Amino acid sequence: MTENLAEDLDELARTLDRDHVFHSWSAQSQLSSLVVASGRGCRVWDHAGREYLDFSSQLVNVNIGHQHPAVVQAIREQAELITTIAPSTVNLARGEAAKRIIGHAPSGFHKVFFTNGGADANENAIRMARLHTGRDKILSTYRSYHGNTGAAIVSTGDWRRIPNEFARGHVHFFGPYLYRSEFWATTPEEESERALHHLRRVIEAEGPSSIAAVLLETVPGTAGIMLPPPGYLAGVRELCDQHGILLILDEVMAGFGRTGRWFAFDGYDVRPDLITFAKGVNSGYVPVGGVVISDPIAATFDDRVFPGGLTYSGHPLAMASIVAALDAMESEGVVENARVIGETEIGPALVELAERHEVIGEVRGEGVFWAVELVADRETREPLPAAAMGRIKSGLVARGLLPFIQDNRIHVVPPCVVTVEDVAQAMPIYDEVLSTAL
Ligand code: PLP
Repeated sequence: MTENLAEDLDELARTLDRDHVFHSWSAQSQLSSLVVASGRGCRVWDHAGREYLDFSSQLVNVNIGHQHPAVVQAIREQAELITTIAPSTVNLARGEAAKRIIGHAPSGFHKVFFTNGGADANENAIRMARLHTGRDKILSTYRSYHGNTGAAIVSTGDWRRIPNEFARGHVHFFGPYLYRSEFWATTPEEESERALHHLRRVIEAEGPSSIAAVLLETVPGTAGIMLPPPGYLAGVRELCDQHGILLILDEVMAGFGRTGRWFAFDGYDVRPDLITFAKGVNSGYVPVGGVVISDPIAATFDDRVFPGGLTYSGHPLAMASIVAALDAMESEGVVENARVIGETEIGPALVELAERHEVIGEVRGEGVFWAVELVADRETREPLPAAAMGRIKSGLVARGLLPFIQDNRIHVVPPCVVTVEDVAQAMPIYDEVLSTAL
């Protein structure tokens, strides 16, 4: 491709996008002009060959990196056989994908319900919980994101908590977030204890026998990557058990390697009743998500129809990509890489960055799941204003780094296959932009 033709293609992509594509979560006059035409591993390129280090993993989903050859090949091979099947039919790839997912779940889980993504995974988990318990209410936290469909968006507690007067049975509570504690806590232990006390009071006030489930992101992602403090998740489990309430853990973003573990909850003393997943399970090569269902809940539907389904539930291309992606993750030690690189490279580098930049209020995370919280004032912890965050974002992109910016935070969330060299390339870019963009 000649240089001029390549530039023309980038321009054509921008024109078509601006004229005809309606974008999510955006004012349509303020769209990105960044073109992504191809990718490999932790890097993407536009048509003209401009290279970007992808430290966003797109929407925090490309855990095995872009264009893993074995996964692309598996999709190609499946496409040669059959590209679509009804959910009611039996298909080898679907069974295999479900079995492989179950292989990473705790004992007592044997069934997977497949969806098209994370939102409808939560939607169906909520429905299962309501039908299993015969109760209505779903409790979820204010700082959370569970997806953009009916019950999932009403369960969401971040800035997208869209008022919906028709939605019944959704109650929000505060989860732990020590840096901006709602409970005046000063230690993780205090935060955990007080957040549990708060949840206990909410359950009592709402009426325990009306509550079907507590829905939690094991590690809240988009809302700020807040690792649960010691004892919190075990305490939530205990409260649920006391009142016959189910625990749904949303592992859509945190699951399949991001925290350096297969499921984020593997690092905590907690066992959910339903697990929702999407993103990292096949790195988003084909849209897919699902619910991993514990045996007692699955048994509810042995002789009773589960009223739910999707034309593309268990889509063969998605199923083939799951099997290949999990093969690659297992054989290449991708999850272990995320754990080690977080511990030895990303974490220490970000802490070092915080020592030199007054604007960094807190660094927190694990694996390839880190938040750098930026503040106008370290004492008051006032969030850095949106205009400054906008300059930081443009500065990073201009220097060839694709960032994930949310509110007053930079989320450092590269693919799980990120290397020491990639981190060494990225850190000076963050450093330079924090020195010059404010
Ligand atoms: N749950 C969590 C924790 C998420 O981060 C997301 C998306 O970012 C969703 C659910 C929704 O997933 P999807 O966009 O695939 O519907």
